[in-house]
Amino acid sequence: MADLQYTSLDSIQDAVTSLRVNFDTGKTRGLDYRKFQIQQLYNMVAHNEERIYEALAKDMNKPRSEAMSGDIAPVLEECLYFLDNLDRLAKEEKIKPRLALNSREIVKVRRDPLGVVLIIGCWNYPVQLSLVPLVGAIAAGNAVVLKLSEVAAHTAALLTDLFTRYLDQTVYRIVNGAVEETTSLLTHHFDHIFYTGSPAVGKIVMNAAAKHLTGVTLELGGKSPAVITPDADMKITANRIAFGKFYNCGQICIAVDYVLCPASRVDDFVKAFSATIKEWFGENPKHSKDYARMVSVRHVDRIAGLIENRQSGGIVFGGDVDRDERYIAPTLITDVKFNDQVLMGDEIFGPVLPVIAYNELDEAITLIKKNPPPLVLYVFSKKQKLIDRVLENTQSGGVCVNDTLMHQAGKFFWELKIKKRLISVGFPLLEYSLPFGGIGNSGVGNYHGHRSFNAFTHERAIMQKKQQLEFLMKVRYPPYTSGNLSL
Ligand code: NAD
Repeated sequence: MADLQYTSLDSIQDAVTSLRVNFDTGKTRGLDYRKFQIQQLYNMVAHNEERIYEALAKDMNKPRSEAMSGDIAPVLEECLYFLDNLDRLAKEEKIKPRLALNSREIVKVRRDPLGVVLIIGCWNYPVQLSLVPLVGAIAAGNAVVLKLSEVAAHTAALLTDLFTRYLDQTVYRIVNGAVEETTSLLTHHFDHIFYTGSPAVGKIVMNAAAKHLTGVTLELGGKSPAVITPDADMKITANRIAFGKFYNCGQICIAVDYVLCPASRVDDFVKAFSATIKEWFGENPKHSKDYARMVSVRHVDRIAGLIENRQSGGIVFGGDVDRDERYIAPTLITDVKFNDQVLMGDEIFGPVLPVIAYNELDEAITLIKKNPPPLVLYVFSKKQKLIDRVLENTQSGGVCVNDTLMHQAGKFFWELKIKKRLISVGFPLLEYSLPFGGIGNSGVGNYHGHRSFNAFTHERAIMQKKQQLEFLMKVRYPPYTSGNLSL
């Protein structure tokens, strides 16, 4: 276990109070100041890349390439985006008045920071999910309390150490701890709370925010299905679903949670999927350096419990568990029933893939709609008509057709050895410009790029008039007479 020091409840109180005082001095508002802090955050991650890989490997054996594409690259990319675009985003918006009478006035929208905001990160992408929202909050001019996840303890300890050396502690502060510390934080008045984690804790956060009428962004989860239509190319489909299931050992909010497969194609899917797993991870995935581990023994036990206590389905491959190594094999279970309370009750968040067979596409759509809207819906089909039918009849935070994970921020890197030097070559396979967020049970609000800026910004409506024309303006004052009003 890493040496992660929890913040005392007294220091939490002091941090929130002093951040409010320092925010009120206006120091976080200057654009040059914001850009400098974002550059510092960039440096913090770029200069300490190797230490971040090490910490992520200790926490969940995260493979280097997954750590780069899922944790490091999104933060660097977000910093660069704001360094390039902050002037434009922060600019006041001049509004063209609808009423000709107001054309003499100044009518505009200022982009003001919300104030002192709280960001609560999650453990599965402990760098990305803490620092990407942080970049947006700094860019928008806020003071920030950042609560790191105690579950990824090595990464939290490292970020805490680095943070004090790169960022201005008077306005950006890290808090560490578990439920007690988070509960204490939530009693304070913040001007916005940005939470990433489970829907259950999302409700606790929203309740606490309601006491102060504080706005929230909630990045939650859910059971994200992959629907395969009968015409799909099974090899491509199997590869891409495996990628969206076993990346970080299934511990990703946009993982494929379960598959809806035409009954006539289940055998094809199983064959293709099994071949993919062997190709990627070998005969025994436990020995593959490219396969991550569960973040804790508690998480191993939960997934092992799902496999053992399932109410339906047979294991086609996988099912092995090694508690000491925090290892769960890539596991495929077919003939699963939608009403299986164990496999289908909650988000799986691990490397177990249930397959449910359907006969008609409408049947699959009906099943999807029985669950609350998921964070993402995956559709594998060559027929636009079928894709449209699924999309028109369902809801979800986002959609990715014929692929998985690629609608989310990130970048894939290859490390090449050129003349004995290791060079990282980035390949932007993923899309940065889409909003990222859920709907209903999978989340409230969205972020990334300019949407992060908006999430942490108050659009302050300004009308500035001149001290003139009172003879005309006074028609609106009492006493109201028909003569006055019809002027
Ligand atoms: P969690 O919700 O248990 O923990 C996240 C944070 O909440 C931690 O800082 C923890 O200290 C705090 N916390 C936990 N219990 C609390 C309580 N009772 N009161 C106050 N604070 C509490 O995280 P988890 O459930 O392990 O994370 C997995 C979930 O997060 C999945 O549902 C996944 O889909 C979701 N997730 C969503 C995203 C996204 O971007 N939408 C990203 C990652 C994970």
